Amino acid sequence: MKVIVVGSSHGGYETVRGILADQPDAEIQWYEKGDFLSFLSCGMQLYLEGVVKDVNNVRYATPADMSAKGVHVYVEQEITKVDPTSHTVHVVNHGNNVERDETYDKLVLSVGAVPFELPVPGHDLANVYAMRGRDWAIKLKAKTVDPTVKNVVVIGSGYIGIEAAEVFAKAGKQVTIVDMLPRLLSLYLDDEFTTILTKELASHGIQAAVGQGVKSFEGIDGQVTSVTTDKGHYPTDLVISAAGIQANTGMLKGVVDLDDHGLIKINDYLQTSDPDIYAVGDATLVPFAPTGKNNRIALATNARRQGRVAAKNLLGTKLAMPAVSGSSALSVFDYHFASTGVKAGTADKLGVDCESVLVTDTVRPAFVPDDAGNDQVWFKLTYAPTDGRILGAQIMSKVDVTANINTISLAIQAKLTVYDLAYTDFFFQPGFDRPWNVMNVAAQKAIKALEK
Ligand SMILES: Cc1cc2nc3c(=O)[nH]c(=O)nc-3n(C[C@H](O)[C@H](O)[C@H](O)COP(=O)(O)OP(=O)(O)OC[C@H]3O[C@@H](n4cnc5c(N)ncnc54)[C@H](O)[C@@H]3O)c2cc1C
Repeated sequence: MKVIVVGSSHGGYETVRGILADQPDAEIQWYEKGDFLSFLSCGMQLYLEGVVKDVNNVRYATPADMSAKGVHVYVEQEITKVDPTSHTVHVVNHGNNVERDETYDKLVLSVGAVPFELPVPGHDLANVYAMRGRDWAIKLKAKTVDPTVKNVVVIGSGYIGIEAAEVFAKAGKQVTIVDMLPRLLSLYLDDEFTTILTKELASHGIQAAVGQGVKSFEGIDGQVTSVTTDKGHYPTDLVISAAGIQANTGMLKGVVDLDDHGLIKINDYLQTSDPDIYAVGDATLVPFAPTGKNNRIALATNARRQGRVAAKNLLGTKLAMPAVSGSSALSVFDYHFASTGVKAGTADKLGVDCESVLVTDTVRPAFVPDDAGNDQVWFKLTYAPTDGRILGAQIMSKVDVTANINTISLAIQAKLTVYDLAYTDFFFQPGFDRPWNVMNVAAQKAIKALEK
């Protein structure tokens, strides 16, 4: 069996790993059009803040490691065309400008996404940056120590925009975050959480300019100097655009079925409209457990799961992609938060009828002093008003209690209800938590609300 895998980030890497694990003698050709194999944007903040010193360490695998495992690795080699009829891809080697065709038995596309470029005047000015991939990581790192950069405008307040803002605030820059939505992080957290985080960001000099759309970037001598929105004007030396992503699927038009956003249509087994071509990662949709419908959830976790599932299926073991809940976590200075599934703020858009309860308490029993690591925790549980089915949750504290959200993700996947969660056995030890875990407490509160 000869498998060609396109793309060397999360989805491509996991596909290759999965094939190696199950059929080590399969012939694998692994293609990356960039000049670096397996860069992980998830590690970018750690690099930009100097925790990870070498940008070249922000990866899963090196060509040498993978070649030693028998994988044929092709870096700086782009797949520019796919011909499903002849099972052939066209390869352009950007290193030596030589082109060739390669045949495959199975093809896996993990072509991912590129940052969405705002279609406004001035979008092509110098110092309008994005935050994805190794090249941008290197350019951004240089700006963190550039004394001519005093003001930074970040566009978009998803987790990438918040990471960018924190990096540049820690580097001593004045940061403004612009978002067209009315709250920062509004797709991840409800307002009980974002109100606190917005204050936390402001206390570190990061201003939120929300509820406003970017109209233009202005510049002098070809370099950006300000951002104008429908509500304000923000002088800046650097713009970091983190306003979403676009599927990297231009070369697939007319080859496999794409949706209106250019995302590759796949079935439960990750096959495209051509059964010998599979697709995974940010260029696809994933099944969303709370609704059972497909959603766009661009996360490495999903790309990795899909890569493993694609590997199984193409090798002949039928495995449907399990539904996911879109679980994610982030630190915002001293706070750590995580969320999963449906939030009150996203329910309407998802067409979900839900109720929520909020619990705030200390993480540990009251007798544990604050300086021994006791602090406040906020936990919000979202459930169906009809039968109490668990649909989502959010948690935040200065203590890292984010892992609780993984339990809720499992509860969503297993279709558990607040009645299951109310008395679930969770451990207690005052050094960690309370006799009733905050998830138990929230579920008990939800039951009271349901019984009213
Ligand atoms: C700053 C940042 C932080 C993030 N943090 C997290 C996190 O903490 N947790 C999390 O779960 N997710 C995180 N993500 C999201 C995560 O990085 C993506 O979901 C994941 O990278 C998607 O993987 P992918 O394989 O679909 O594609 P991509 O990462 O988009 O990679 C696609 C690769 O394919 C290559 N390629 C494309 N077309 C071709 C072609 N025709 N020929 C050859 N090569 C090609 C590209 O050069 C690229 O290397 C973060 C993203 C960013 C930008």
